[in-house]
Amino acid sequence: MSEIKKIRGFQDIYGENAKKYRYVVDTARKIFEKYNFSEIILPYVEDVSLFVRSVGEATDIVQKEMYVFEDKGGRKVALRPEGTASAVRAYVEERMYAQGGYHKLFYEGAMFRYERPQAGRYRQFHQIGAEIFGVSSPMADAELIKMVSDILKALGISARLEINTLGDFESRKKYMEVLKEFLESKREFLCEDCQSRIERNPLRVLDCKVESCKEITKEAPALIDFLSEESLKRYDELKEYLKALNIEFVENPRLVRGLDYYTDTVFEFITDKIGAQGTVAAGGRYDTLVKQLGGPDTPALGFAAGIERLMLLVENLPKDKPLVVVIPVVSEFNIQALKAAEKLRNNGMKTELLLKEGSLKSKMKTANKLGGSFVVFVSEKPELKDMETGEQEIFENIDDLIDVLKDKAQV
Ligand code: ATP
Ligand code: MG
Repeated sequence: MSEIKKIRGFQDIYGENAKKYRYVVDTARKIFEKYNFSEIILPYVEDVSLFVRSVGEATDIVQKEMYVFEDKGGRKVALRPEGTASAVRAYVEERMYAQGGYHKLFYEGAMFRYERPQAGRYRQFHQIGAEIFGVSSPMADAELIKMVSDILKALGISARLEINTLGDFESRKKYMEVLKEFLESKREFLCEDCQSRIERNPLRVLDCKVESCKEITKEAPALIDFLSEESLKRYDELKEYLKALNIEFVENPRLVRGLDYYTDTVFEFITDKIGAQGTVAAGGRYDTLVKQLGGPDTPALGFAAGIERLMLLVENLPKDKPLVVVIPVVSEFNIQALKAAEKLRNNGMKTELLLKEGSLKSKMKTANKLGGSFVVFVSEKPELKDMETGEQEIFENIDDLIDVLKDKAQV
């Protein structure tokens, strides 16, 4: 029979990579908890209109990247392409705002986008992310950025922080009119994608990676000249806080992000180490989104980081616990071996009971392949072998062996 393959853009994450995945998530989780964020586990499938209304009708995600289908009940649903929209929906639907105060949530899990797969870009990928609802002070922006920077640092990843402000909705609208006019006058010099973006999503032209487009947009009117006093003040405040926290940043007036919902602060952490897919984490404010999705007027902000991209940058995984392999010398000792393994595990040791039958020699070979640091031979009397030093010692019983092994295996 022919083999069935995984679908293009999807991945099996196993072995060392699965360890890396868990390491990234666990590290982030510890830091989320330190900042007193609480977890929200969101659905993978949502009503399509959630993303159309939040991410934006004209964005690449909604226009061409979403997995949309009709379920058996005739509902038009989508596999979530990102987490913020669902978090906002939940915040509104579960009436979290009714508790007063403000809310800090984090999430982790798969996202789906029908993009062209390449290194660091998949159709099912995974994100960690966090959102803060109900705070307008730029202190929150600074803390969020600091938290992301802490996560990267804990993972041993160095990335450059770029920030920008998009201002409030009104100033941006004014700017977009002027920008459209400018782009229209240069239409023939822009790439095909950008030509279609002039009407649809002119801000995105500023973010185009095509050299000739970059050249042209250098002369484009600058968003900063259209910002309100209020927005500029907030931006200055944020920069002041970042400096106080010793977080280095670069101001990038072209940083616009690909989603419609951002207002004021936007930021990205970027590295040059993994080729073109260099953005590892990105986020910003979205002060109008909660209301847009039917909730009360609530300022909010958040970020998301691609786990696969973080994995590409993690160089050192913490050392595994040493492995103890239990070998019944002959099958008459299988029951004793089962019990010995149980005891070792109850004493906190990572234990592999050698399950394959065969000669002692072949069992030892397997123990080596498994990467055992210690072997416990189960026979009349148990014997411990340190695989690194080659030392062997016979004990009266398994309890005595465990006492010695506990020290050696540092449990
Ligand atoms: P890009 O410009 O790389 O397409 P984006 O602006 O679409 O990114 P966001 O929607 O802000 O990305 O998602 C946040 C993070 O999720 C990105 O910075 C990246 O690390 C990761 N990410 C986004 N799309 C993918 C993908 N298809 N495969 C793997 N990771 C992804
Ligand atoms: Mg994208």
